[in-house]
Amino acid sequence: MYRSHTCGELRIEHVGNTVTLAGWVQRTREMGGMTFVDLRDRYGITQLAFNTEDNDDLNQAARKLGREFVVQINGEVIERSSKNKNIPTGEVEIKVNELKVLNAAKTPPFTIEEETDGGDELRMKHRYLDIRRTVIQEKLRLRNKVALETRKYLDGEDFMDVETPYLIKSTPEGARDFVVPSRMNQGEFYALPQSPQTFKQLLMVSGIDRYYQIVKCFRDEDLRADRQPEFTQVDCEMSFVEQEDVLNTFEGLVKHLFKACRGIEFEGDFPRMTFAEAMETYGSDKPDIRFGMKFNNLNEVAKNKGFKIFDEAELVVGIVAEDCAVYSRKQLDKLTKWVQRPQVGAKGLVYVKYNEDGSFKSSVDKFYSQEDLKEWADHLGAKPGDLLLVLSGEADKTRKQMNELRLHMGNELGLRNPNEFKPLWVVDFPLLEWDDETERYHAMHHPFTSPKQEDIELLDTDPGRVRANAYDLAMNGVELGGGSIRIHDRDLQALMFKHLGFSDEEAQKQFGFLMNAFEFGAPPHGGIAFGLDRLVATMGGSDSIRDYIAFPKNNAGRDIMIDAPATIDQEQLKELGLDLDLQEEN
Ligand code: ASP
Repeated sequence: MYRSHTCGELRIEHVGNTVTLAGWVQRTREMGGMTFVDLRDRYGITQLAFNTEDNDDLNQAARKLGREFVVQINGEVIERSSKNKNIPTGEVEIKVNELKVLNAAKTPPFTIEEETDGGDELRMKHRYLDIRRTVIQEKLRLRNKVALETRKYLDGEDFMDVETPYLIKSTPEGARDFVVPSRMNQGEFYALPQSPQTFKQLLMVSGIDRYYQIVKCFRDEDLRADRQPEFTQVDCEMSFVEQEDVLNTFEGLVKHLFKACRGIEFEGDFPRMTFAEAMETYGSDKPDIRFGMKFNNLNEVAKNKGFKIFDEAELVVGIVAEDCAVYSRKQLDKLTKWVQRPQVGAKGLVYVKYNEDGSFKSSVDKFYSQEDLKEWADHLGAKPGDLLLVLSGEADKTRKQMNELRLHMGNELGLRNPNEFKPLWVVDFPLLEWDDETERYHAMHHPFTSPKQEDIELLDTDPGRVRANAYDLAMNGVELGGGSIRIHDRDLQALMFKHLGFSDEEAQKQFGFLMNAFEFGAPPHGGIAFGLDRLVATMGGSDSIRDYIAFPKNNAGRDIMIDAPATIDQEQLKELGLDLDLQEEN
């Protein structure tokens, strides 16, 4: 028996017990003839006490312990004279009788404490040490709890966990595929699934009725803080459902998770917003509705007053930053520079200060009278003391820029409280999205999403206006999940492929298996997938998903601990029938 208790377990009622503990040396403190050692394991920290007067050899041995040594001790639980109220074991310590070093440790490259002196790179290189830190363990614990409660809830709703393969053919989720060369079929490649989309639909044809899987998905995309090349989805599909059924079932899941994992209860139903409204009022399909600052179209009041930039713009749009008329020239210049960064891409920023005395001071005073600006203010619902921020240009682009500015102002003004959670269903997404580069329509969600019945006739005349039975769950400006009601009819699926620019042969070659399956009695079905990493990070009040993944990759898609990706040797290449040099020459 290595231990009788964990390092997080002992309390005042254990005083007098003889115990054995094992763990890591967090730190050692010497005080006169005494030595105190903080012993740590996953469950907590317990203080060990050594005393020269009781046993000098043992005390000397304790003083030799280095950080992160693995030790086992035996001793008596005693009451501490100076209690530590900050930790659950803080009322007791162990008067050690025996000390055994189970394994020595090199001095770690950074301190394994709440706050560490290790930068990102160093911590990732030694991620196994980083994970010893309580802060990271708490994040992984939250993840475990969310996954466990997801299983409990879905199991209770009759969902069945079915595994689907990783070595497959391309799935169209709009990203690039990771591919795996086949040794047995040289010159051919598997693709790693961007999601189990087609398989879960086939399982509906099989009569599984309710499927779920907590599953890895792979997408070869450029990385950002909230993206990883491999990530985990809670992937679900249901038969004989309409959109309303799916939304209700998964609103239930999210409510259950927040209650079970964070003790937070949502009141009433999650609000809903159409995609069109979300874009118009927030410039985003995942609006952060923890704060207002909604967009208002100023075309009517700002155009045709001789200000060329506005006159030529498709859209003039404004927001109100409450109580910010006090912003200094310097602050406003900084804000202007901020919107002009390439990441945002605005040409400039127009501001209007609505002073407390009712007067206006703006960056466009040359073109607009005080009365004009009052009209803007009224249009935007501003009051004295507020600051109006206005952008203009091509409508879609300007809305996106304004979205960035709004979120930035939300951060600046402390309106995005990480402990406040505001879910929002965004519904009625467009079915298709025009792509300037390829000059054709793409499926906005994926090609299996069904159009709204009443919009089908627009497919031929005005495809961009066809709405889909597709929905996303947004929370705090993050897309937590999305899904759709699927097409289950072969002919409609074939029509959809046609609109996406596939010839019959191409569609048959790539998705024949699915369309064929639809000929054998496919039930109406629909589903959703949540990004587990994002869900957990959001629940933990963080923007970055990396901390919630045990072994994440960096921005360049590298695992710097194991040093992957890496080259493989000639022999392996040969076996796979790959000749890299030849490919480079081509
Ligand atoms: N397969 C979709 C995705 O990964 C989710 C779904 O439609 O269920 O986004």
